[in-house]
Amino acid sequence: MEPTRFAAGAAYIGGQFVPIDEAKIPVTDWGFTRSDAVYDVVHVFRHGFFRLDDHLDRFMASMAARRLKPKESREEIEAILHRCVGLAGLENAYVAMVALRGRPRVAGSRRPQDCDNHLVAYAIPWIDVIPKDVQERGAHLWIASTPRVPDASVDPTVKNYQWSDLTSGLFEAHDHGFDTAVLCDADGFVTEGPGFNIFMVRNGKVMTPDRGSLHGITRKSVLELCAEMGIEARICAIPRASLEGADEAFAATTAGGVMPISRIGSAILSNDRPGPISLALKAAYWRKHEEGWHRTEVRALDPA
Ligand code: PLP
Repeated sequence: MEPTRFAAGAAYIGGQFVPIDEAKIPVTDWGFTRSDAVYDVVHVFRHGFFRLDDHLDRFMASMAARRLKPKESREEIEAILHRCVGLAGLENAYVAMVALRGRPRVAGSRRPQDCDNHLVAYAIPWIDVIPKDVQERGAHLWIASTPRVPDASVDPTVKNYQWSDLTSGLFEAHDHGFDTAVLCDADGFVTEGPGFNIFMVRNGKVMTPDRGSLHGITRKSVLELCAEMGIEARICAIPRASLEGADEAFAATTAGGVMPISRIGSAILSNDRPGPISLALKAAYWRKHEEGWHRTEVRALDPA
C-alpha cells in the first residue's frame, strides 16, 4: 500500500482501486455519450459517513429506475466506498458512486440491454457547491429563465447527470453577476438549483418545492431538524413570486450542507445577510454532525 499515490483521491473502476487521476472511462461508454448513468454522493465528516444507508437506498432505487445492473451488490458497494475513503486517507470527503450503462457487447447495437453496466466510485477531498466565504455572506441567487426539464421526461428523483438546464441556469447567474441559480418549471413553480434543493422562509415557516426536485437527503435532514426545533415546515408548490417575496432562503445539499442565501434577483433578504432561521438550521446541522447524528464510522483499511 502506498497511501501517497491516493492523496488526491481514490477511485474504484473496472474492479480495481486506482489513484483518482487514473480513473478513466472509454469515450464510447454510453455513460459518457448519452449521460446514461445514475449516481449518488455521500459526504464524510471527521472520518464518519453521514446517512450512508439513505444514500445507498437512493442509489439502489436510481439504478432500478434506469435498469442499471452493475455486478457489485449493495454490500460490496458499501465496502468499496469505505475503501476509497480509507485509501485516500481523507478526514472530510466527497464520495461518489456512479452506475454507467457501459458499451454494447454487440458492435453497433443501439439496445441498452446489450451494454455491460459498470460501477465507478471515488472519494476526493470535501467540496462545497457554494464556496464557504459566499455561504458566510449569503449566496446571491438568480432565478433562471431556462425552465427545468419536465419531471415526466427526466425524473428528478432519480439522481442523474442530465444537467443541460441546470448548467444554462448557472451561465445565466454568472452572466448577471450572481453566485448560483434556481430553476422554475414551465408552469412557473420553483424546482431546484445546480446541485441543491431550495428552501424559503416566510413568516417563520419553512417551505421547499414539491416538484421538479431530487428528494434530497439534506432536505430530509432539514425537515427533521425543523420538527425537532419546533419550526413549521412543509413540502409544497412554490410559485416564483412567492420565492421572490421570501424573508429568508437557503440551499441544501450533501456538498455543503445548509447554505444561506442573502439575495434573490433584485430582492435583498435579511439586511443582505443570512437570516436567523437559516443560521439556526445550519448551526444545528453541523452541531448534530459533531454529536454523531446518522453517522457510520469509516472502516480502517484491511492490512495489505
Ligand atoms: N438537487 C440536485 C440536482 C442535486 O444534484 C443535489 C445533490 O447533488 C441535490 C438536489 C441535493 O441532494 P442531497 O441533499 O441528497 O445531496
